[in-house]
Amino acid sequence: MKVIEKTAEISACSRELHLRGEAIGLVPTMGFLHDGHLSLIRESKRITGKTAVSIFVNPAQFGPKEDYHRYPRDIEGDAKKCRETEVDLLFLPSVEDIYPEGHRTYVDVEGLNDKLCGRSRPKHFRGVATIVTKLFNIIMPDKAFFGQKDYQQAMIIKRLATDLNFGVDIIVMPTIREADGLAMSSRNSYLNSNERVAARILYRSLMLAEDMIRSGEVTSGEVRAKMEGLIAGEGSSKIEYISISDPGNLEDIETIAGDVLVAIAVWIGKTRLIDNIIIKGDKR
Ligand code: AMP
Repeated sequence: MKVIEKTAEISACSRELHLRGEAIGLVPTMGFLHDGHLSLIRESKRITGKTAVSIFVNPAQFGPKEDYHRYPRDIEGDAKKCRETEVDLLFLPSVEDIYPEGHRTYVDVEGLNDKLCGRSRPKHFRGVATIVTKLFNIIMPDKAFFGQKDYQQAMIIKRLATDLNFGVDIIVMPTIREADGLAMSSRNSYLNSNERVAARILYRSLMLAEDMIRSGEVTSGEVRAKMEGLIAGEGSSKIEYISISDPGNLEDIETIAGDVLVAIAVWIGKTRLIDNIIIKGDKR
């Protein structure tokens, strides 16, 4: 595994691989790797010739009061996991290399960036879209891998790859969960043991929504109210949003008919967690 810190160096390396006819898969991450990340790496290994993983805690996607400085970091542990999964290129750029003095250009995917998580994190998706655009330009991958765990993010990236003619295949992989249903996330490391138990409420509320919708409930207000009741019963939790929307455009749905995205953001103590499921219309 080559470990590369400089953008110019990984671009040169990628060009050379392309000249040799290799296809490159990119897995962008913020590190503190868990099985969710590893599932993306494994899929990239399965369907592309060479796999690049980037680890970069992107300051542009954190708000001023968010957890940029305390975001968990473990470069050595991550490098070990990457070596074990036979990653070819590990890219660890510095903030100065990605955002040098004078950087002023940002990418905004309008109409998708202001819904769900965008309501409380107004510049978050601008930061995400900008770093992904830069990584695509730096590494020039053929395919890039993202998790459904961050459904809105994956949608925004699909949109920008199309709109900016990147010609990069965007592949979205299912959410990997702990045994009790909690979606794996680097931020789960913030939870103390009581909060870890409380955090099960996210997946349980999604399962409640799925049961109701599969049993024929079509009024999203009813589903939301039941979810709210369940989550409110969990002392240390606070709902940021429960969204029942069209998975194609994230517009709210009042009466459920076809496919539906149920997405939530819930605070457990001081930790903000998100999760979602898609319930297919044709399987009801
Ligand atoms: P992050 O390091 O949290 O920015 O995540 C990097 C990539 O891994 C993103 O595409 C995430 O959607 C994906 N990811 C994070 N958690 C999971 C999970 N539990 N299952 C599948 N993919 C995930």
